[in-house]
Amino acid sequence: MTDHFSRHKITPGWIEVICGCMFSGKTSELIKQVHRAELARLNCIVFKPKIDNRYSETEVASHDQNTFPSVIVESSDDIIPHIDRNTDVVGIDEAQFFDDRIVDIVTLLADSGKRVVLAGLDTDWQGKPFGPMPTLLAIADVIHKQYAICMVCGDPATRTQRLVAQNDSILVGSSESYEARCRNHFDPLLSVRLTQVAAPQDEMGTKSITEPTVQA
Ligand SMILES: [Zn+2]
Repeated sequence: MTDHFSRHKITPGWIEVICGCMFSGKTSELIKQVHRAELARLNCIVFKPKIDNRYSETEVASHDQNTFPSVIVESSDDIIPHIDRNTDVVGIDEAQFFDDRIVDIVTLLADSGKRVVLAGLDTDWQGKPFGPMPTLLAIADVIHKQYAICMVCGDPATRTQRLVAQNDSILVGSSESYEARCRNHFDPLLSVRLTQVAAPQDEMGTKSITEPTVQA
């Protein structure tokens, strides 16, 4: 479907969402699509929310270290001032961290002829729909569901397992704090149990504990 659209030099705007759990290659796919658009001489700009500063401050970076320059914004309303009539493609990484206004913003962009490509986690560490992602998926014209590999059994993974004793809703991290799991091996209460175990030893409640039941 994307390739079908891509063959048209002048295209109507649309919204494309790349979703999945952590380590499923969402950002890699976003970067690939933006690079391809640049090869087609389209004007591209990529945004990410300020909350995510792993690997690089001014680039979107995938876990495999592919990068693309990005504009860091505090809120979704900060995106619009960076867009002009020559902008063809708007990439947005870590879309799950944006406020709900992102839905109106990307609708406005698509309605004005821009191609919007968002990448984001569809579910959080508890397995629940993450931030504005459910609405973004509902209004998307194109959806790519990405899969990681379950670190327990090797099956396709759709869930993000938190491995540390930390129950805040947002904990930005990488493989030291999370791993991909299939539905069978996803344990949303693990972090809660680790917090209870860690509490007597670590007053800050932030001690990292490797899950004892996971086998490589
Ligand atoms: Zn599994």
